[in-house]
Amino acid sequence: MAKLADRCSFCGREKRDTNMLIAGLNAHICDYCVLQAQIILQEESTSKDPKYFPDYTLLKPAEIKKYLDQYVIGQDEAKKILSVAVYNHYKRLSHVKKAKEEEVEIDKSNIILVGETGTGKTLLARSIAKMLNVPFCIADATVLTEAGYVGEDVESILSRLLQVADYNVESAERGIVFIDEIDKIARKSDNPSITRDVSGEGVQQALLKLLEGAVVNVPPQGGRKHPEQKMIQINTQNILFITGGAFDGIEKKIGARLQTNMIGYSTSKERDIIDKENLLQYVSPVDLKSYGLIPELVGRLPVVTFLQSLDRNTLRRILTEPKNSLIRQYIKLFEMDNIKLSFDDDALDFIVDKSVSFKLGARGLRSILEAMMTEAMFELPSKSNVKHLKVDLSFLEERFQKTNLSRLKVA
Ligand code: ADP
Repeated sequence: MAKLADRCSFCGREKRDTNMLIAGLNAHICDYCVLQAQIILQEESTSKDPKYFPDYTLLKPAEIKKYLDQYVIGQDEAKKILSVAVYNHYKRLSHVKKAKEEEVEIDKSNIILVGETGTGKTLLARSIAKMLNVPFCIADATVLTEAGYVGEDVESILSRLLQVADYNVESAERGIVFIDEIDKIARKSDNPSITRDVSGEGVQQALLKLLEGAVVNVPPQGGRKHPEQKMIQINTQNILFITGGAFDGIEKKIGARLQTNMIGYSTSKERDIIDKENLLQYVSPVDLKSYGLIPELVGRLPVVTFLQSLDRNTLRRILTEPKNSLIRQYIKLFEMDNIKLSFDDDALDFIVDKSVSFKLGARGLRSILEAMMTEAMFELPSKSNVKHLKVDLSFLEERFQKTNLSRLKVA
């Protein structure tokens, strides 16, 4: 009788179907099963660790907002809405924990933040992450494609969350995911049948499953799924999704909608109330649909809010007020060389003016400061006699003349 081929005693794979088959006394184990066993071990060792299952001490929405105020200037509306959503997320988690059999299930409310680039969407999400003790990750919608095409599968978002949760599935299932640039997967045309829209509508369809709550097979290492890879199952029912996008040009759609409503139903008095300069504040699910998000996806992002574009006054505050503001960061950097750095008020105004005139927004503040301070950061550490640097208007004007303006690009 022919000798039976060596097989893995756990999964039954033949040697030729494995990368490696390790022999024991009376058994074999393949590399796939070793990996799987490793994941189980990891899960077991973290499942009792309080680090992964903290008591959800409920911060009240007002307290959450207060926390966000330390890092994010303005954007009160978005902060309020996020605070309530995060508060409810915590409540839902403790509810799930307490009574799995109770009849009332609290649905999650995924969020969509609409606002120009550089207005603080990611900063808001990051600041929440800092405050929370649940796993949190940021994913970029632009790299996602429909399964089978070049790019990353939608499930890879959850791989990242799983990594942040140290591969503890239960902990990942309570996490928060921020998906950036959601507007970039808008439907490219109104007629989906012309060409296959693998990076637009196809991705939206794939995201649906994640957002609504389903058990999803996740490749532990991320990237693209392949048949031989061991998958980890994650239930997304309690994962909160916060999405963000610039939605360039959505104001036109909002304007058009308001205009149509106006003709039909409103009195001329109401027409006056509309703030035409800031149409984003009226953004609604209807506008997201006309922008190219499929109705099902919009339906699963029930909380819609906006971020205002940053005016001069807000930019000025961003320079100094946040807990880790740019100015504080520079002061700290110089302090490490025992140099006391200070800025005059009109010097700060100068930086803001330049950022406004180059239309660089909040990101520009850093580029401008960087360009202005490089010389001092290069020279001063070697001059032990310099203990103070006072940055005033004339210092900046002089530096500005010497700086190549083309360097002032948004990072
Ligand atoms: P977005 O995600 O909306 O494109 P970011 O959150 O990445 O923008 O903002 C870019 C940078 O600008 C941040 O790192 C932060 O320093 C600064 N910034 C933007 N908006 C604010 C704000 N409202 N308050 C404080 N800093 C801000």
